[in-house]
Amino acid sequence: MNRIAQLRGPEPAKRHNARTIAALTGNPGCSRRSVLDAAGVDKVALAARVGFPGSFGQSRFALARGNAFEAMLKADDCELLRSVLDVGVVGYQDLGADDDATLTARHARTRELLTSATSALVDHPLLTLSVAGQTVFLEPDLIAFQSEGRLRVVEIKSFAIVDGQADAAKVAGAAVQAAVYVLALRRLLGDDRVSHEVILVCPSNFSLTPEAVVVDVRKQLSTLKRQLSRLSSVTELIDSLPPAVSFDVALSPAALVESLASVSARYVPECLSTCEMSVFCRHEAAGTTASLGRSVRESLGGVETVAQALELATGTATPTPDQAEAAALLRTAARLREEALS
Ligand code: SF4
Repeated sequence: MNRIAQLRGPEPAKRHNARTIAALTGNPGCSRRSVLDAAGVDKVALAARVGFPGSFGQSRFALARGNAFEAMLKADDCELLRSVLDVGVVGYQDLGADDDATLTARHARTRELLTSATSALVDHPLLTLSVAGQTVFLEPDLIAFQSEGRLRVVEIKSFAIVDGQADAAKVAGAAVQAAVYVLALRRLLGDDRVSHEVILVCPSNFSLTPEAVVVDVRKQLSTLKRQLSRLSSVTELIDSLPPAVSFDVALSPAALVESLASVSARYVPECLSTCEMSVFCRHEAAGTTASLGRSVRESLGGVETVAQALELATGTATPTPDQAEAAALLRTAARLREEALS
């Protein structure tokens, strides 16, 4: 068994999807997440085993609504979806879902279909992307079709567009996920064959009536490429871990906490919406300035804890040369606060 599989234990590896890759690139400095994801560890099970389960992911209601919306769009060979996309008469190919043993075959079918000149809606394609030295399969719930000689990615989302406006954070999240698919398709077919404009199909105005909007993901694509290339080599990181480190969820919680402690984390408040380990990492990072967010981390470089920041602000501690700038900032903030309160 290789070291990566050893780290995970006998459980089957969790598969990546566009959401996990988008989230992974959202916190590229976190070695813990990189290692857990590269090893395919079930982070939901791990977080629960160490006593910090989170209510991560979409609610059951949102999932059911999303599934119903998607099924409605795809019924009868995507009849409704075709009318929203206005793609005219094109074929429909469903590459279907299958198990781990046939992923490579489905990827080959996807490649064959997408490289052909066929103009079709393609359902359940299987793409690959290299993430931190690991090739991961992506099972996009997307349909790509030929439009003016280029493939376009279509993302079906269950959040609503109300009076032409949608939740900006949700649109941004959907755009990063769609960019993951665009990048995977471009690596497969070449940049010219895949459009940087993706189509989001969402319910309109609290009904299930679909509405399509075009989103340009060029900015997300360049961020994604930059961050993927920056991701530290996980293989090297994993090889450097002590042999006793394991995330096999059959181990005791104490052993798992010890293993987690041996891989450095970089908790930021955004983790709460992007990583299954967030409640554990927040607890672990309590009292640190980094846990208050990136802007605080950057402003208070060299000041590791909230207690230390308070001492520097009130002048009860002497700053080191590295902390001088942050200390001046803290003293000014403390003085302004005093003035505002008095
Ligand atoms: S929650 Fe923890 S493991 Fe996940 S990205 Fe944040 S710091 Fe890293």
